[in-house]
Amino acid sequence: MRLTLIVVVALLLGLVVPVPQSSAADIVFKNGNVYTVDPKTPRAQAIAVTKDRIVFVGSNADAQKLVGPKTRVVDLKGNTVLPGFADAHQHLSGVGFREMNLNLEGTTSLEDFLAKVKARVAQAKPGEWVTGRGWIETHWKPPVFPTRWDLDKVAPNNPVILGRADGHGSVANSAALNLGGINKNTPNPFGGEISKDKQSGEPNGMLLDSAQGLVRRRIPPTSPADAERAVVLGVKRNIELGWTQIQDAGGSYNEVELFRKLYGEGKIKLRIYKAVHGPGPSATRLLNEGATIGAFDNRFTFRTIKVVSDGALGSRGAALLDPYSDASDTSGFLTVKAEELRPMLVDALRKGIQVETHAIGDRANRFILDEYEAAFKAVPASERKVADPRWRVEHAQIVNPADIPRFAKLGIIPSMQPSHAIGDLHFAPSRLGVPRLDGSYAWETFIKSGVVIAGGSDAPVERGEPMIEFYAAVARKDQKGFSGEGWHPEEAVSRDDALKMFTLWPAYAAFEEKLRGSIEVGKLADFTILSADIMTIPAPEILKTRCTMTVINGEIVYEGS
Ligand SMILES: [Zn+2]
Repeated sequence: MRLTLIVVVALLLGLVVPVPQSSAADIVFKNGNVYTVDPKTPRAQAIAVTKDRIVFVGSNADAQKLVGPKTRVVDLKGNTVLPGFADAHQHLSGVGFREMNLNLEGTTSLEDFLAKVKARVAQAKPGEWVTGRGWIETHWKPPVFPTRWDLDKVAPNNPVILGRADGHGSVANSAALNLGGINKNTPNPFGGEISKDKQSGEPNGMLLDSAQGLVRRRIPPTSPADAERAVVLGVKRNIELGWTQIQDAGGSYNEVELFRKLYGEGKIKLRIYKAVHGPGPSATRLLNEGATIGAFDNRFTFRTIKVVSDGALGSRGAALLDPYSDASDTSGFLTVKAEELRPMLVDALRKGIQVETHAIGDRANRFILDEYEAAFKAVPASERKVADPRWRVEHAQIVNPADIPRFAKLGIIPSMQPSHAIGDLHFAPSRLGVPRLDGSYAWETFIKSGVVIAGGSDAPVERGEPMIEFYAAVARKDQKGFSGEGWHPEEAVSRDDALKMFTLWPAYAAFEEKLRGSIEVGKLADFTILSADIMTIPAPEILKTRCTMTVINGEIVYEGS
C-alpha cells in the first residue's frame, strides 16, 4: 500500500521510480563484453543474477531496471565475459599434488632434471621416499629417457620414483626397484612394461603403465591431511585460472568421500563432475549405489566410470594398429581385458551410468568403439535407464579415418585436449609417420562429422590453463608459434567452436546443457571474465590473457588484481 503510494507520488512529481527490492536482482554485472554462446542473443553488455540463476541478459540500460537498493552492481570495465569455462578432463588431486611434490615440468635436459632431483634428495631424511612428476624427455636436448643409473648417482640411498608428465611412465632408481621386487627376471605385468637394458637385460628403471604399480604400491599411503590439502590447492588454482567446473577423469571412492566432506564444510566452490576407475571395486560400488546428480547446489555430480584402454604415445604405450614408425618391434598395448569390460558396460547401460574411456592409439580407439557398439546392441534403448547414454572417448587422439564417422553414428562424444596436440607435435610425426597424422588430433574433422568435442586440459599431464587450451585449439601451434610439416593446420577450430569446446559442449558431455554452458536466462550463473577479448585478439595474445574474475552459482569466487 505504502509502496504504491510512493510510486504514485513519484509519478505525479515526475521522479525516477526506484526499483523495489522484490523485483530487483541480487547482482548486476554491467559494462561487459559478453559472449553468451546463445544463438538467440549472441552478444550483450550486462547480466543480472538472482540467487544462483541468470535472470537477465542484455543492455546496460535495461539492466539498470533491475538495480534495487540492495543490488550489488559490478562494473566490468569492458572486460570479456564468457560462460563459465569447464575442463572436461582433469585430475584434480594430481593438480594439487603437483604443487606439493617435486615438480619437474619445464626441465630442459637430463642434467637439469638430475640437478633438481639432487636438490630434493638433499632435503629428504635417509630412506625417505622422493616422488615427483612432470618431466618430458622429448623436450630435452638430447631427448633420452632417464635411467635408474642416472638417478643412483644423485640418490644412492633414498628410493625415488618420478612420473613422466603423461602419467603413463615413471623412472625409478635402484633402491625403489629393489623395494618393488623388480629384477632381471620379473615378468611384465598385464598392461605394462618393465623396460630392460638391451645389452645386460637388467631393468633400466623405466616402468610403463601398470608396471609403475609394482613400485608405487611400496610408497607409504598419502595421509588424509595431505589428500585434503591437495584437493584444496587444486580447487584454488582452478578457480584462479577461470575454470568453473572440472570433470575429474577417474579416481577412487576415497576421493568421492573426500569431496563430499569438503563440500559439506564449504571448502569447495568449484563444480566437480566425478568419475571413478573401472572395471573394479569403485565402479561396482557406483553401479550398485547409483549416481549422484546435482548435489551441493548443483556443484557435485557423480555418474561416470573411467576406463583406461591403452597407454600414451610418448612412452610408446598407446595401442596402434601398426607398429611404431620409430620402434618397429612394438605397437603398444591395451590395458583392459575385454572379458572384464563387457559385463560392466552392459550393467552401466542398464543403470544409467556414463562410461568414459581413455583411448590414445588407433587400435585402442577402434577397440573401444567396437565394445561400446556391442553394448549398445545388447541393451536396446528401451532397457536403459538413460536412453541417450552419452558415452565418451577420452583423448580420441589417433583415430583411423574410417573410425571417425562412427562417433557421430553411435552418439559417442570425443573428449579432447588441444594442448596435447601442441606438445606432441614435436615427437608424434616420428612415432607415427606422416601418413598416420591423418586422423590424429582431428578436431575439425570430428566437428564436421557431426559430434561435439568436450574440451579439456588433462592437467597435471598438461599445465591445465584455459588460455593455453583455447590458444592450442585455434592456433594448433606450440607456444612459440611452431608447427611441423604435415601437422594438419586445417584441423584447427574456429574461435566460436573453441569457445563451445570449453563451455556448452562439456556441459552436454555432462548432461548439463540445459543447466549451464551458455549465458541465458534461467541457467546457472557461471562466468569466466578475462582481461582481453580472446574472440578477436591475435592468437599469441591469448596466451597473455588473464582471468580477472570467476563467478560460480552467482557468487564471485575469485577476483584478480
Ligand atoms: Zn587424463
